[in-house]
Amino acid sequence: MQYVLAIHGGAGTIMPGGDEEPYHAALREAAAAGESVLASGGSALDAVSAAVVALEDCILFNAGRGSVYTSDARHEMDAIVMDGIKQTAGAVAGVHSVKNPVLLARAVMEKSSCVLLAADGAERFAREQGFAVTEPEYFASPARLQQLQRAQAAGKGSMLDHDGQSQAQEPIDPDRKFGTVGAVARDRNGHLASAVSTGGMTNKRPGRVGDTPIVGAGCYANDASVAVAATGTGEMFIRSVLAFDVAARMQYGGASLGDAAHAAVHEKLSKIEGDGGIIAVGADGALAMPFNTTGMYRASVREGEAIKTAIFA
Ligand code: ASP
Repeated sequence: MQYVLAIHGGAGTIMPGGDEEPYHAALREAAAAGESVLASGGSALDAVSAAVVALEDCILFNAGRGSVYTSDARHEMDAIVMDGIKQTAGAVAGVHSVKNPVLLARAVMEKSSCVLLAADGAERFAREQGFAVTEPEYFASPARLQQLQRAQAAGKGSMLDHDGQSQAQEPIDPDRKFGTVGAVARDRNGHLASAVSTGGMTNKRPGRVGDTPIVGAGCYANDASVAVAATGTGEMFIRSVLAFDVAARMQYGGASLGDAAHAAVHEKLSKIEGDGGIIAVGADGALAMPFNTTGMYRASVREGEAIKTAIFA
């Protein structure tokens, strides 16, 4: 079977005149990291993990190194991995000292009997599993701190990342984007997997957990139907069980991937005023990447073809 991989670096609002090239380059690099796993016969699970690690290590995206700040100017990161073979999953929420939260999520899946570990318990598990302590300085970023200050100056309390004022440096307004990262893949054996990682929302309330580490909301994978990775206003993705909604439309309703993904985002999510998008790969190798924002950083690659990157519709 032909392998297929798609990644995203978040969705959001277009700022014309921004410098897009660094984003295309970073997306290409992350897609290539995932593709090299698939091309050497590796699993979809290893491919999505590798792609998300590359995105977590890049300061341009809101995950790992580039995570946004909470309202008390700290970092609380969420991540998840899900394997389509048996719907095994591992996730972490509210971790602050782990360089690559997606790898900790993978350890939860493979080395514990849990699906989701949060905060202190997740940190303790990280140490037990030999994950080094990464100091807060690694995640510190003046641009992200300014983003927090703009959000707080706007005086809306626990305002979300997308509600701030614009700053025309990036193609997608940094105050109106969801820089979460994600990857979905089908490997040569036809297995599907999904991984997602995020710093959450700028100025989020400490302890707030979004859709990312929640199976069926921000992430889902089932070899019988589809692998989905989401980005956007987490609360709406949780309320609409969005990632699973795509799978359910396909598996129970017989919808094609394209129709299922389009309806989930443009009908179900939009109806409750949720913003964002998803990337999805079907069991048949079809790809869909719908979003209801003006842009979504994304890339995809199919065996034998070149990597394609895109930001706008
Ligand atoms: N969905 C993420 C959250 O709500 C945010 C994002 O996609 O950037 O935490």
